[in-house]
Amino acid sequence: MLRINQLKLRPGHSQKDLEEKILRFLHIPEDALLDYQIFKQSIDARKKPDIFFSYTIDVKVKQESSVLRKMKKQVQKITRTPYQLPASGDQTLSFRPVIVGSGPAGLFCAYLLAQAGFCPLVLERGADVTQRLLDVEAFWENGRLNPSSNVQFGEGGAGTFSDGKLNTLVKDAQGRNRYVLETFVKFGAPESILYEQKPHIGTDILIHVVKRMRQQIEELGGEFRFHSQLTDLLLQTKHPEGPFSVRGIQINGCEEEAAEVVILAIGHSARDTFQMLYEKQISMQAKAFAVGVRIEHPQAMIQACQYGEGAPKELPTASYKLTAQLENGRGAYTFCMCPGGYVVNASSEEGRLAVNGMSYHGRDGVNANSAVIVTVTPEDYGSSHPLAGVEFQRMLEERAFAQGQGKVPVQCFQDFCENRVSEQFGEVLPQIKGACTMGNVRAIFPEILGASLEEGIRLMDHKIHGFARADAVLSGVESRTSSPIKIERNEEFESNLGGIYPCGEGAGYAGGITSAAMDGMKTAEAIIRRYAPFHKVF
Ligand code: FAD
Repeated sequence: MLRINQLKLRPGHSQKDLEEKILRFLHIPEDALLDYQIFKQSIDARKKPDIFFSYTIDVKVKQESSVLRKMKKQVQKITRTPYQLPASGDQTLSFRPVIVGSGPAGLFCAYLLAQAGFCPLVLERGADVTQRLLDVEAFWENGRLNPSSNVQFGEGGAGTFSDGKLNTLVKDAQGRNRYVLETFVKFGAPESILYEQKPHIGTDILIHVVKRMRQQIEELGGEFRFHSQLTDLLLQTKHPEGPFSVRGIQINGCEEEAAEVVILAIGHSARDTFQMLYEKQISMQAKAFAVGVRIEHPQAMIQACQYGEGAPKELPTASYKLTAQLENGRGAYTFCMCPGGYVVNASSEEGRLAVNGMSYHGRDGVNANSAVIVTVTPEDYGSSHPLAGVEFQRMLEERAFAQGQGKVPVQCFQDFCENRVSEQFGEVLPQIKGACTMGNVRAIFPEILGASLEEGIRLMDHKIHGFARADAVLSGVESRTSSPIKIERNEEFESNLGGIYPCGEGAGYAGGITSAAMDGMKTAEAIIRRYAPFHKVF
């Protein structure tokens, strides 16, 4: 297979245009092109509004060595190594592995274990995705929160109601990233996510992907139990001082299940489970994360800035990623930007309010939104307790709830700077899933963080003109950016409690859908390497 870099074509081109370009580039006739695949597509917007798609293409051609000889400066020979499951170990399991949580980490862990013959049991505190969709929409409609079935909890995990961005900075020598994308495509995501520079799925498609993946795991011998919360770990030890290992779990405060391998893929919002784990003396510590606001602008403004006035209509909805170094030494940055998306009420606890962003596959909403956040560390929490970050999040979320009296508090940027409640919107109207009302978003934060957010947004205006416009709409609080804790694990992925495997974003090993899925895979690999498959007895 040969790889061609930087084939440029104008937006709106057809598949035929691409094929002709490949033939012309390689100087070969049509019948010499046996097959081709787009490996990467990016946008070259250096001379806006004169914008191109730039392609990396892998081709199979007749007489490859002669083409390679003639074009050796422009093409390279490549071999693609597909991801491979490791060989199984030989330790015997008396019980099937239990995975707690069906977000990307739990789902991919289950998918690999099911393929390797381990028949995993997946426990999920929330509802299946069909019921969850109804619960979330009802919450956005009437404000009544279901604490176990919401934007954070339920089948598919936190990313189900999201923009479904799939890019990650995690290194990928083993092909796990590609495997995650290929798996999403296998279960219904568009093929373009395999090559787009910034792949995204969208809530409307993700819901179906998650459901089909679950069905496949079940066909392979796995089992899912919804409305099933891990409430306790049953531990055993030969010596009163430890070490401790797991012998079973408690579900919903009553039921018990024997277990010797338990994967904790619980996400960053399972605060009650964090508390239980702390009481069980799992090794954990507080870690830095980031908090801030969602900011909304007209998508047309972002489009014009990123692509130039009069750019071709066929270009994808424009996104941005901004950072700013602040006077006080902190950094501000944008996070989880949703082009043509919506701000969502993403709360999971009564009396506390958190926001996030989502979009549909078409990204055709009128506003662009993004989090603007600043890093907070244990110094900001005012305590070195492992759960101090959780308490800091709760404090901000309680203030957000109070500012909006239960609705999402919103404020124009100008009024955020002047620390007063807005009286009316300007041109930008909030696009929010869930009720919103005017409130003082700045008052949610300690003064240092409010000032940092203001300065950060003003500095970002140097990169996107209009970013700090007076009528940009801010909402809060963006507090669930990543986990406030880290649960330690050794090289075999096991915690200090034998048989307990912390995994994914909640344990501090991932940040985003793809990296959580990849961490789920790594955890499954560690279990497969150690144990022989578990054969279910019916
Ligand atoms: P989670 O997805 O949080 O899954 C954890 C699961 O465990 C949940 O389903 C929960 O109900 C369950 N659980 C928790 N405790 C228990 C228990 N005790 N018993 C049983 N079950 C339990 N990331 C991106 O990469 N791109 C995006 O576009 C994006 N947009 C987002 C938009 C929103 C609105 C939100 C909330 C998040 C978004 N994220 C996005 C972040 C992404 O969703 C997370 O990084 C990812 O889901 C983490 O995966 P995870 O499997 O580690 O945890």
